[in-house]
Amino acid sequence: MKNKTLREFVESNEEKTNEVSEENLYSKNSLEQIKQKILSNMKCPLKDAATNLVFGKGNPNAKIMFIGEAPGQKEDEQGIPFVGAAGRELDKLLNSINLKLDDIYIANILKYRPPNNRDPTTEEIERHTPYLIEQIKVIKPTIIATLGNYSTKFVLASFKVEDMKKIGGITSLHGKKINMNIQGETFIVVPLYHPAAMLYKPALRKVLEEDFQVMQKIIEN
Ligand code: URA
Repeated sequence: MKNKTLREFVESNEEKTNEVSEENLYSKNSLEQIKQKILSNMKCPLKDAATNLVFGKGNPNAKIMFIGEAPGQKEDEQGIPFVGAAGRELDKLLNSINLKLDDIYIANILKYRPPNNRDPTTEEIERHTPYLIEQIKVIKPTIIATLGNYSTKFVLASFKVEDMKKIGGITSLHGKKINMNIQGETFIVVPLYHPAAMLYKPALRKVLEEDFQVMQKIIEN
């Protein structure tokens, strides 16, 4: 990863992603299998109430994976993460460091929308995150950018829901580079404020913009 520009970094596996390589096919098939497992096996009241599963979007071979919190109304309607107001803000932040959707993969802690966008419960996180862990193991990102408190705590607690309460909040962790080894895989974790936060707290826009620059430097150095 040393001495690469961000573009070189995200495209360093592009030969694999542009052709129908075995690895790309493997990732796509594996993600599809996880999706089918959720659709057929997962039991959760959120699933019964939701319109659609919101699984993930982006490049299955991405080196940068973003993890959000939970689908909102627009995401539930379309079955795609980050298509509402927070998604538009995320797109702008990605563009600010010259990234596009095809450079990243994005998924949420919860796979189905909580009513009225309330916070996820511990039980819901326990039910939904085994599928997120499977997604992470297929994507094998080098960088995990966590958006907001829930995904930050989940990843920094090494995917152990019971340890999430031991992890500090996003206010103290945002913009930091944290090396993690979780279940035999190494990741560089960069906690970020959730883009929805700046919609109700405009002062956070500058912080998020700066943290995206920090993330770019982390990747390039
Ligand atoms: N907020 C999230 O955390 N995820 C989405 O998919 C949309 C909004």
